[in-house]
Amino acid sequence: MSKYQLSCADCGSRRCSRLKGEFPEFCLTTSLDEEEKSAVKDKYNSEETHRVMQAAAEVEGRYYGKLTRVEETLKFASILGAKKIGIASCTGLIDEARIFTRIARARGFEVVCVLCKVGSFDKAEMGIPDEVKLNPGEFEASCNPLMQAHILNREKTDLNVAIGLCVGHDAIFNKYSNSLVTTLIAKDRVLAHNPAAALYTSKSYYRKLLKP
Ligand code: SF4
Repeated sequence: MSKYQLSCADCGSRRCSRLKGEFPEFCLTTSLDEEEKSAVKDKYNSEETHRVMQAAAEVEGRYYGKLTRVEETLKFASILGAKKIGIASCTGLIDEARIFTRIARARGFEVVCVLCKVGSFDKAEMGIPDEVKLNPGEFEASCNPLMQAHILNREKTDLNVAIGLCVGHDAIFNKYSNSLVTTLIAKDRVLAHNPAAALYTSKSYYRKLLKP
């Protein structure tokens, strides 16, 4: 295997987190040249990135292991100075989005929540074949992550929170949202939105995942 095919997952030593000890030959830290390292580091000096890094560090440093993700998200928003929070939610997680909206409002945030089926149209209009519809032959609303981003961009939200967007639709939403996006819930239709459970059980119930 070429050294370029090996990466952090093949190392696992995490020497980079202490900058001590022996690094593997393919290490992605030691293989960086100084110019590359400082060019990337300089990017943290941009105003927005700097502010976000400060807020993220504050949430981590002050509340490590003390706050849930819901609380961390709102704490992050508050340290960032966000006033208006956008929620891009899956229609299947509307209850969770409604509860999160109530919690955010109770903490003084203005909230705009946009469901994935907003401005919907039939999947067929996008050339999606009938056989990959859940109910072939029937109207089936496509998720509309571009419209979710469009509305939240129009609303000039300060920070967007993704709740259970489908794999792929989340990628589009993240790409086209003008504001930064943080994910509150990663959808997993099988594992009650806990995708890591498949990894935790990959030596037992989900060992099939490791088969070629
Ligand atoms: S950066 Fe280097 S030391 Fe850190 S996990 Fe990756 S390969 Fe290992």
